[in-house]
Amino acid sequence: MLPINLNQVNSDEFKQFIDSFDHVFSDCDGVIWNKDPLPGSGDFFNLMKKIGKTVHFVSNNSLRSKENYEKQFQNAGIENGYEKLTIPSTAIAEYLKSVNFNKVAYCVSCTETISVLTSHGFKCKAGPEQISDFYGDFLQYIDDDEDVGAVVFDSDFKVNLPKLYKAITYLQRSDVIFLSGATDKYIPLTPDRLTLGTGIFTQIVCEESKRLPIQLGKPGRDFGEFAMKRANVTEPSRVLFIGDMIEQDIVLGKNVGFITLLVLTHRTKEEMQSHTIKPDFFADSLGSLIPQLEKALN
Ligand SMILES: [Mg+2]
Repeated sequence: MLPINLNQVNSDEFKQFIDSFDHVFSDCDGVIWNKDPLPGSGDFFNLMKKIGKTVHFVSNNSLRSKENYEKQFQNAGIENGYEKLTIPSTAIAEYLKSVNFNKVAYCVSCTETISVLTSHGFKCKAGPEQISDFYGDFLQYIDDDEDVGAVVFDSDFKVNLPKLYKAITYLQRSDVIFLSGATDKYIPLTPDRLTLGTGIFTQIVCEESKRLPIQLGKPGRDFGEFAMKRANVTEPSRVLFIGDMIEQDIVLGKNVGFITLLVLTHRTKEEMQSHTIKPDFFADSLGSLIPQLEKALN
C-alpha cells in the first residue's frame, strides 16, 4: 500500500488515523530537534497527550548524557521526556542484568555507554585509542582475554582497526555475548546531508566473526520489544512509531508490528517513494500536523 500523506487527508480520515493507535513512540534526533527544537514538535506531543495517547521516546543516540537529554526535552517544551526515553545503552545494561553477566564487557562504544554500563555495576574495557603506525605492533590486539564475556558495539566515532581485531578475537569464543546498540549506516551530520555512521564497522565484525549481535538499537526487534516493556505496552499494532530514518525507524516499526509515520525532515517525498520499505503515513514534520490535531481535539 502507498504511504498516506497526513498533510493532505480530510478531517474524517485524520480522525480514523488518530483512532488507530493508543500510544505514540517517537524518535528524537531529526524528529523533535536537530540542534535546536523543530517548530511545533513539543506542541505535537502535548496535544497527543491531551487527546489521550501515551507518549514515549525511542532513540538510537546513547552519546547524549541524561543532563543533555533533559535539556533538549525541556527546550522542546516536553515535560518528563527523559523518564519516557529508551536508548541502546540502558537496553544493553538491562539485557546484561537479565543474564546475570559477571565478566568483562569489551566496548566499542561511546564513553557515555560505558558510563551507563559502569553505573549499573558492570566491568568494562575499551580501546586502544592511541595506536602505532606500524602494523607489526598490532600483534598484541589479536591476543584473547578470557575475562571478556561480552562484546558491545554502540556509536564509537573513534573506532579503529585494533578495536575490530579485539572484538573479532573475543567473538571467536561462542559463549561471548555479542550486543549492538546503534547500527546506523548513515547519520544526518547536517539537516540536509547524510554521512556514514558507525554501523558499517559493526557490519565488518559480523562478517569476519560470522556472528550476529542481539540488536538492542533500532531497527532490532528486541529493542522495540524492550521499549514496549518499559512503556507497559503489550499490543504493538496500537503503537504509532514516528521517525525520520527509513532504515532505523520505519524498519523497526515493520519488525515489531507498529504503525509507522515518517517525517520528511531528511528525505524528500521522491526518495521515500523510491525506497523498497515504505511507511504507513508521512508528513512534512510534526509541527505541520498541529492544525489537524487541534481540530481533532475540539
Ligand atoms: Mg532520527
